[in-house]
Amino acid sequence: MNKQLITGIHHVTALADDAQKNVDFYTGILGLRMVKKTVNFDAPDVYHLYYGNETGSPGTIMTFFPFQGMMKGRHGKGQMTATSFSVPDTSLDYWLKRLKKFGIQHTAPQQRFDDELFIYFEDIHGLGLELVFNKEDQRPGFTYGQTPMEHAVKGFHGVALTEEGYERTAALLLQGMDHQLVKEKGNRYRMSASGVPGDFVDIIHSPQDSRGLGGSGTIHHLAFATPDDDTQLLVRDKLLSKGFNVTPVLDRQYFHSIYFREPGGILFEVATNPPGFAIDEHPAHLGEALKLPPWQEASRATIEKGLQPIQVNTDKFMD
Ligand code: ZN
Repeated sequence: MNKQLITGIHHVTALADDAQKNVDFYTGILGLRMVKKTVNFDAPDVYHLYYGNETGSPGTIMTFFPFQGMMKGRHGKGQMTATSFSVPDTSLDYWLKRLKKFGIQHTAPQQRFDDELFIYFEDIHGLGLELVFNKEDQRPGFTYGQTPMEHAVKGFHGVALTEEGYERTAALLLQGMDHQLVKEKGNRYRMSASGVPGDFVDIIHSPQDSRGLGGSGTIHHLAFATPDDDTQLLVRDKLLSKGFNVTPVLDRQYFHSIYFREPGGILFEVATNPPGFAIDEHPAHLGEALKLPPWQEASRATIEKGLQPIQVNTDKFMD
């Protein structure tokens, strides 16, 4: 068998407005760890905030570009419209109470594929999120103490892409990116590279929807994981041979990346698992200092002056 070049989801990156509200929502209410505080390498006047589990493992990493005052986007087709987090099946009551406590509106619990229990809600910027209550996920959760360990988020469950058409995006995932169709029901087709929670990519075939518009509360891109630099080059060649316009390899400091648009218009990235977030910070202190890539260190004073100070306020979000 050929070596698997894509192993699952690496990270999800979204657009937001206020940076402090973003920190409070993800580290406070959801209880994730801030694993890196850096800047958008292409626009260093904007933060790039990374949240995840204790080490920031691929499959747990949610990242944001918070642009102060950014207009809200509109959800619709040609967008990734939901990011689902995995929590234990015994945690439904806990999370309903917690979201209510912090004033986060959510849907009633719903079933999907007959046996999957979830609730949908939106973050402080309007980004579509879900909690999926399940017992299949073997990964440990992470907590600073805001949520008890037995109810903590374990990482992603999966993501949902809302698409005008199904076939070409499915063909890309199935034939170009090592995914398999694991479930389908109605207009929802679930793909996965690993078959386990963390890596589900649902294509929702929804031609009647209006097109999404980028802005605060929308997804910027979805990144898939590849084992190393060699497998990344093989993926790149494969995508080029299928006619996709793929960027050269870009150094993102914590991983190396290539980007391209899938047939429905959503920006995809393929990121290497190494080197990871401990490359420039001790694992015990991830996310504490503003980290810049070596090529931007010379501009640190200017960059710091342009950024709104932010802090992790976990103590305000204890149960
Ligand atoms: Zn990315």
